[in-house]
Amino acid sequence: MQGKKLPAGLHRDTLAVRTALEPSQYGENSEALYLTSGFVQSDSETMARRFANPQEGFTYGRTSNPTVTSFEQRLAAMEGTEAAIGASTGMGAILMLCMGLLKAGDHVICSRSVFGSTMNLFGKEFGKFGVETTFVSQTDVAQWRAAVRPNTRLLFAETPTNPLTDVCDIRALADIAHGCGALLAVDNCFCSPALQRPTELGADLVIHSGTKYLDGQGRVMAGAICGPSRLIVDVFGPVVRTAGMTLSPFNAWVVLKGLETLNIRMQAQSANALAVARFLERHPAVSRVYYPGLESHPQHELAMRQQSGLGGAVVSFDVRGTDPQSMRTNAFHVVDSSQVMSIATNLGDTKSIITHPATTSHGRLTEDQRQAAGIGQGLIRLAVGLEHIDDIKADLLRGLDTLA
Ligand SMILES: *Cc1c(COP(=O)(O)O)cnc(C)c1O
Repeated sequence: MQGKKLPAGLHRDTLAVRTALEPSQYGENSEALYLTSGFVQSDSETMARRFANPQEGFTYGRTSNPTVTSFEQRLAAMEGTEAAIGASTGMGAILMLCMGLLKAGDHVICSRSVFGSTMNLFGKEFGKFGVETTFVSQTDVAQWRAAVRPNTRLLFAETPTNPLTDVCDIRALADIAHGCGALLAVDNCFCSPALQRPTELGADLVIHSGTKYLDGQGRVMAGAICGPSRLIVDVFGPVVRTAGMTLSPFNAWVVLKGLETLNIRMQAQSANALAVARFLERHPAVSRVYYPGLESHPQHELAMRQQSGLGGAVVSFDVRGTDPQSMRTNAFHVVDSSQVMSIATNLGDTKSIITHPATTSHGRLTEDQRQAAGIGQGLIRLAVGLEHIDDIKADLLRGLDTLA
């Protein structure tokens, strides 16, 4: 399936707007949305050829669709990988990754700080199929090296993490993976290719939740894996065809258009986030701010090297309190005093979102597990959007300046 003919050497910003399949016979300027489950074939020979090799053309929507292919080509161009494959959700992409690469008896090394559902998939669900996972520190590379076994097939990382924005060293993890014949997959949800391109640092595969910044406006669920054609086409393609975690054409179309503004949104939202982080650091009711763009962040220099000099749009902070109960009361007060930001648990939206991780995303952990993960009752996470910075600051001050 041919992409639009473009000159070589275009900048990434241009590829984000221009990469797609050829327009249809009508010459539409904005990429078309093909809502169809099946594709009519000209004759039996063509049909047979396409069934034997899906790269030859479209047959059935579970296998591929032109709008989905345009999204995949554009995302791959932005990540700098040979290919990409869409999935119904970010978790669908991780399921596809595991189904394609792992079998009973294999071993995975995964950061202890990855997205909660990712933890459950590796820790619980795949255990049922005889895949064992060792969870290690996000930041201590020695723990990753020490966890390697003869049957280690996959290292899985996410950086920066949710909600504490811990950063891992992608190049160091890639070296460990390749030293033991394993692959490194990086969940690039928080940075997106606008800030961080893990394969340039040695990662083999990049995972996306398109639900977050790729769409960027909180409209649809989507996911993807980016990587070399030999894995995307030959390993993951058959998994999607048989298991059916296919990306819907409508959702692919929404995210395809979202990608056109990804870079400019990430620049603007990161700038807003840095300003919010600096402002919070100076507020007396705040005891600690977690943001890779701050000099006080433990992996600030690594983050600036890995993330195009930007911190991303997620900022977390602890409000003061004398004990867990008072911290929680104070955190709830700050969240509930906001009149502009949304109280919600997702992120990656142009609308700023404020949330209390200890009672939402991390609510099912025991207090001890939460302590170990560093998720205190005073912790608040902001996914900073595109509102005017002064309005975001004022919204936070409504609660911070009126704490008892
Ligand atoms: C949201 C998220 C996912 C899962 O994506 P869905 O599209 O919700 O399935 C995976 N990883 C990270 C880091 C996320 O934030």
